[in-house]
Amino acid sequence: MTVCTTASPETAAMNNNTSSSSPAPAELQAAFQAALQRELAQSSEGPTREALMRAAASACRELLGQRWATTQRADAARGDDPAKAPVRRVHYLSMEFLMGRALGNALAALGLDASLREAFAAEGQNLPDVLERESDAALGNGGLGRLAACFLDSFAELGLPSFGYGLRYQYGMFAQRIQDGRQVEVPDDWLRLGQPWELPRPDVRYPVGFGGRVEVDADGSRRWVPAERLVAQAFDFIVPAHHSERVSTLRQWHATAEAPIDFNAFCRGAHPQAAKHRVSADALNWVLYPDDSTDPGRELRLKQEAFLVSASLQDLIHRHLREFRSLHSLGKLNAIHLNDTHPALAPAELMRLLLDEHGMGWDEAWAITRQAVSYTNHTLMPEALETWPLQMFEALLPRHLEIIFEINHRFLEQVRAQFPGDEALLARVSLIDEGGHHGHGGERRVRMAALAIVASHRVNGVAALHSELMVQTIFADYAKIFPGRFHNVTNGVTPRRWLQQCNPALSSVIDERIGKTWRQDLSQLSKLKPLAGDTALIQQFRSVKRANKERLAELIRRETGIAVNPDSLFDVQIKRIHEYKRQLLNILHVIARYQAIVANPNADWTPRTVVIAGKAASAYQMAKSIIRLAHDVGRIVNSDARVGDKLKLVFMPNYGVSLAEMIIPAADLSEQISTAGTEASGTGNMKFSLNGALTIGTWDGANIEMAEAMGTENMFVFGLKTEDVAKMKALGYDPRLYVEENRALKNVIDAIAGGAFSGGDASRYRQLVDALLGRDTYMLMADFADYAATQSKVDALYKDARAWGERAVLNVAGMGWFSSDRTIAEYVERVWSVKSLG
Ligand SMILES: *Cc1c(COP(=O)(O)O)cnc(C)c1O
Repeated sequence: MTVCTTASPETAAMNNNTSSSSPAPAELQAAFQAALQRELAQSSEGPTREALMRAAASACRELLGQRWATTQRADAARGDDPAKAPVRRVHYLSMEFLMGRALGNALAALGLDASLREAFAAEGQNLPDVLERESDAALGNGGLGRLAACFLDSFAELGLPSFGYGLRYQYGMFAQRIQDGRQVEVPDDWLRLGQPWELPRPDVRYPVGFGGRVEVDADGSRRWVPAERLVAQAFDFIVPAHHSERVSTLRQWHATAEAPIDFNAFCRGAHPQAAKHRVSADALNWVLYPDDSTDPGRELRLKQEAFLVSASLQDLIHRHLREFRSLHSLGKLNAIHLNDTHPALAPAELMRLLLDEHGMGWDEAWAITRQAVSYTNHTLMPEALETWPLQMFEALLPRHLEIIFEINHRFLEQVRAQFPGDEALLARVSLIDEGGHHGHGGERRVRMAALAIVASHRVNGVAALHSELMVQTIFADYAKIFPGRFHNVTNGVTPRRWLQQCNPALSSVIDERIGKTWRQDLSQLSKLKPLAGDTALIQQFRSVKRANKERLAELIRRETGIAVNPDSLFDVQIKRIHEYKRQLLNILHVIARYQAIVANPNADWTPRTVVIAGKAASAYQMAKSIIRLAHDVGRIVNSDARVGDKLKLVFMPNYGVSLAEMIIPAADLSEQISTAGTEASGTGNMKFSLNGALTIGTWDGANIEMAEAMGTENMFVFGLKTEDVAKMKALGYDPRLYVEENRALKNVIDAIAGGAFSGGDASRYRQLVDALLGRDTYMLMADFADYAATQSKVDALYKDARAWGERAVLNVAGMGWFSSDRTIAEYVERVWSVKSLG
């Protein structure tokens, strides 16, 4: 039974249209050999691992290209049966897709691992070494981008007619290097060796304008005359299903100038001048802005967002007209989903295209837009909600601003009628921040979240607590105006990548016990629950974990030179470095443990290896300071002979999908320790538990639903709850009181402040210490004692291998709900289906 059968008759129909026979290995062998010959013709080195990887990728790409064409034909015919409810095609707009590597996934999906293993062996190479030569497609920051990648996998698996839309960043975000314990950012040149996966679509091109002015024709119609014109060209990246021949598409846009060089300027000899447009267009393709701390940076970011939205919507309209001839059915047959507010220009651009380019009237265009658009919010921090200075916005997108003003005018009229006399409410919910208060120097700004909410028929959060808090806090006013618009859809991860692919040994152990269907229907994992006490199963879990830990220990040695003991408890925190995620709390605990070991080296310590990885935004000084502290502490702890392997602290550089796939299967303990009420969902938490790590976590994000699914007694839950945090802050929280009354904590803070880890330099961490003793926004001091006490419980349980193993099985058994297949089935049911339009 496929997930979509239970969730959506619409998508099930699509799945059943396809058979699941694999292409004949002979066909692949031929494609592979042909591609290999092409590679060898270009390579002076012979059949290197790179050449084999690229040849395998090209061969897969050919097969996937055929599946793509079949999938598109089936989807285009989806309106042909009048007896069936029409199926909507989903357009998932996201500035980020954190895809990782593709070859391993493609081989598994196409059922070709075995035959390529042989083909590689014939060239004297083994499969894992060849797979490792592929660069990660790291076109994103973190969780939000990885979620989009998991969704593409589930779109294919569920047979959902869909397009993911993004930008083709040439240098991803950045690659993280560590120099003298500090993060250094370098361009991530992932396309250097070519991109064997992408299918360029030279015929799929759309013009995108910027700047200029709006002209009014004699009949009163308005027309935008942009000053700068770019062309968006499509590159497709195809994502296969594992249990059908369906595929999903990531269509990425690449910008070029309409007129690549100014020929007159060139003839005058003014070469830089001649290339100006080209360089300006190309800048859109460089990087995903990791931070926007400068004005030119911000402007480029807005251009990237507008570029993504305009090209994608023109593509949608073009396809819809080809398939259905008329725009009247556009809203009924297409869903446009906004992954956070980065693509929130979409409703304004769709209105512009319908009104100005296709001559539709406002009311119909607005009805279509509302039907099509839906929005996922990913943050509860008001300062993280995207806004744009009205001036910059008007200069780049004058016609869009007019449309936003009109949407706002009509919206505020409605609110005025609904809540007469409440002027403060109008100011709070307006799409325009009039700037009459703090911050941003009083300038007027466009509020992208407000636009996304007003233009959507559904808005969702990403975990139960987050969705609840979303309507109680940042979007409380909108929830009052639009009751029924707000929903929850809890995140999930794809079991294909995050168990089958990253942990083949554990997958086999699970297969032996409950069969293989969990790959398609993760809820099958609950069948492990009654087996949790089975000694043989616990032993198998243990030996798989041990082998994965040895593999990671070897990688740690190669990357950092640090020798770690695979028998120690692997305690792992890998995610973006952010104050709210509290890597600092983790490091404080490491220091406390270090001091305790030194004070009492002969006590019965449970040896631990603490692993941290993650990138800090390049302008986020506090996050960078935390990375430096991790290195400073690691250097002292790891070289102290009194400590030995009782404690090690390792920072693994350049966190990304492939590194996560190595680390997660080797983790014993998963650190999910954000301040309650700050982590929207988390998906790292799910990957760890799915791979048999136990979680130490706060009552936050999806940790809560995970604890409820597996039994709260199977998670190490600690710390303040959301309501405690709010209460304490309201009463006036003083972190110093916690430090004064906790000797261990005081020693930790004193050591950092006194320069114990910075060669006596007391200034290096002054800001960091001041933040902890001053506002301590994320309540580390208040949570420290409970965190440390809970870590002692972790130590005690780890000593009892059988009890620990039983819990590991129960963790895996409880994770059935957290598949992105279930998440997408819920989106289809509640957000994207015709039914959800009411
Ligand atoms: C899963 C994942 C994330 C998200 O991790 P969180 O712990 O949920 O923040 C970020 N980056 C990568 C590479 C991931 O695989």
